Amino acid sequence: PTPNVWNFGAGPAKLPTSVLQRAQAELLNYNNTGMSVMELSHRSKEFDNLHNKAQRDLRTLLNIPDNYKILFMQGGGNTQFAVVVYNLLAAKRHQIDDDLEEEFNPPLDYLITGSWSLKAAEEAKKLYNNVNIVFDAKKFYGSYGSIPPKEDWKLSGSKAAYVYYCDNETVNGVEFNNIPEIDPSVPLVCDMSSNILTRRVDISKFGVIYAGAQKNIGAAGLTVVIVREDLLVRSKNFDNKSSGIPAIPSMLDYKIMADHNSLYNTPPTFSIYISSLVFEWLLELGGVEAIEKTNLTKAKKLYEIIDNSKIYKSPVEKSVRSRMNVPFKIQREELESEFLKGAIELGMLQLKGHRSVGGIRASMYNAMTLEGVDFLIEYMMAFERKHC
Ligand code: PMP
Repeated sequence: PTPNVWNFGAGPAKLPTSVLQRAQAELLNYNNTGMSVMELSHRSKEFDNLHNKAQRDLRTLLNIPDNYKILFMQGGGNTQFAVVVYNLLAAKRHQIDDDLEEEFNPPLDYLITGSWSLKAAEEAKKLYNNVNIVFDAKKFYGSYGSIPPKEDWKLSGSKAAYVYYCDNETVNGVEFNNIPEIDPSVPLVCDMSSNILTRRVDISKFGVIYAGAQKNIGAAGLTVVIVREDLLVRSKNFDNKSSGIPAIPSMLDYKIMADHNSLYNTPPTFSIYISSLVFEWLLELGGVEAIEKTNLTKAKKLYEIIDNSKIYKSPVEKSVRSRMNVPFKIQREELESEFLKGAIELGMLQLKGHRSVGGIRASMYNAMTLEGVDFLIEYMMAFERKHC
């Protein structure tokens, strides 16, 4: 990578330079096999070692309890939007006595805090007819940027097959600052695509956590799933008894994936390899606890500039501001294109806000250094001086 380029992209995002250098050094001859890791059989001993080590390292990094499985799947967050519906309905059905008399139709509870959780709920509605919107923050506030108080949540309680939320809304810059409190008998399902591995988290509070790799884990193509073992149930062929629950296609079936150690089919081997390097990099840095501190410092510095400025404005309420994705507006909108152009000239790339919300968005995942954020801040201050 060119040393004077700062990649603020939301994903695929910047990878640690040392990871890329190592991948480059090993590209033609992985671990003395005489070939690239891309050319190794996914059933080979070398790949098996790397695959298992990646899982162990992730388990260490996130302190994942033994009763959780790690799955390496494909299809990204968008596929998981459907996958969780299939698997958690099957798990709920399994819980209930087989001689169920009433129709099986438990609600699926969705917390909507931004465009990704909204999209997940819409996907669920495509597959199932009882999706309960616990709240849609946009309906409360007119736009995404806040989370309604708990009193206004319409949870279904223990009837629900699961409660779903997105821990960090990548487009809207809204991040939960604690784990939502729900009925403890109901599995909590969380999309952590854009903030997994960026702070410590109590995994035992969750039924399922998933994340696409392309932000904090590695290269696109891999989706990491962490699932509590009791939710892994054998899916039945579709029959009238299981009324309304579709049979799970094998590639989307958590239980099948777990039983095959994620090697049911050919996995995205290169992407898993890159992730294994990222995990090693993070462990060497001191793990999640260490990177969490840096992430807080980066976010604090950037929001301070925004809050003390006359031209920059954050659309997100202070208590739920994302440490990862910082969207902001420039008060005179016509200055935004000038801002972006000047940033590109200085090597600060991919700062344009998501097409649905416009403005600027600085994404600063684990691989973005404090130095990069300082560079952006310097530029923002200089830009403001020029225009005030
Ligand atoms: N959830 C979140 C929070 C995301 O940021 C994204 C992608 N940016 C997705 C889901 C969708 O992921 P994918 O593109 O891997 O399907």
